[in-house]
Amino acid sequence: MSPARPDQSPVTRLAPSPTGALHLGNARTFLVNWLLARQHGWRVILRIEDLDTPRVKPGMIERTIETLGWLGLDWDDGPLVQSHDLEPYRSAMRRLAERGLVYPCTLTRREIESAVSAPNEGDHEIRFDASLRPAEIPRCFDGEATNWRLIVEDGRVSLDDAFRGRVDLDIAASVGDFVVWTKRGCPSYQLAVVVDDARQGVTEIVRGDDLLDSAGRQALLYRALGLGKPPRCCHLPLVRGDDGRRLAKRHGDTRIDHYREMGVPSGRVLALLARWCGVDAGDSVSARDLIGRVSFDTIPREDITFRAEDDRWLTDGV
Ligand code: GLU
Repeated sequence: MSPARPDQSPVTRLAPSPTGALHLGNARTFLVNWLLARQHGWRVILRIEDLDTPRVKPGMIERTIETLGWLGLDWDDGPLVQSHDLEPYRSAMRRLAERGLVYPCTLTRREIESAVSAPNEGDHEIRFDASLRPAEIPRCFDGEATNWRLIVEDGRVSLDDAFRGRVDLDIAASVGDFVVWTKRGCPSYQLAVVVDDARQGVTEIVRGDDLLDSAGRQALLYRALGLGKPPRCCHLPLVRGDDGRRLAKRHGDTRIDHYREMGVPSGRVLALLARWCGVDAGDSVSARDLIGRVSFDTIPREDITFRAEDDRWLTDGV
């Protein structure tokens, strides 16, 4: 599983989770990822992240791919659909187990919670305290129907984020030993991403900054698996509703497909996404015409707010 880089050109990935349809927020991130790739000559891989998510409804994968195409985004390789072959993830688990870095864990949420004094407010993830580790760490991965956790040693992880600069994370203090294999019999998001980024030779990651904390966990997994340096990452501010929360159903139907079904042309959707990247593209623009116009200098440093007038502007005249 050493990084496969037949040529030395940088590689990035578009990695949608086909669980909910693509909305204006994640479409903006995909657009920026694609524009940077096309501007700088990175190879683009499409990867469908359908593991460790709520059930993927039939047809969702095809629909996600179709919607990216409607926006004018393309890719050079893929799609790789994670659920089609779990062997690479099992093999990573075997390697982690041989190194004594993972262990099975059957503790319930309540048991884990009671070991930490006060979980941070609003945390949906509870910290797993090192005192809860078993006394014996097995050297073989032999139970796929159990959660397995990675041993997280104390210490900080430093990331050099291409958009935010240096970021220091303390994974032991924030989440502790985190799950790398789930009792549903599949790798966790964290493990799947690392295995795939490594085997696909990914060198550039562009995604929303809700995943910044995950980048720290992924760096630890890179190290634990002996995969060398993790890809360069870039975490972009998110699009939020006017209540400050991450764009979601509660803010109305902001799915790309919703606007498409209403007859809004893709050029208009892209013009709004471009505006959210600091580029005035008028009423309509193609993805291709935006290449070279969006950069880290144009993208606002703060989160974007989706407002009712944005929705009105999109649907005006249809
Ligand atoms: N599949 C994730 C998402 O759609 C992206 C994961 C990643 O970029 O690492 O949010």
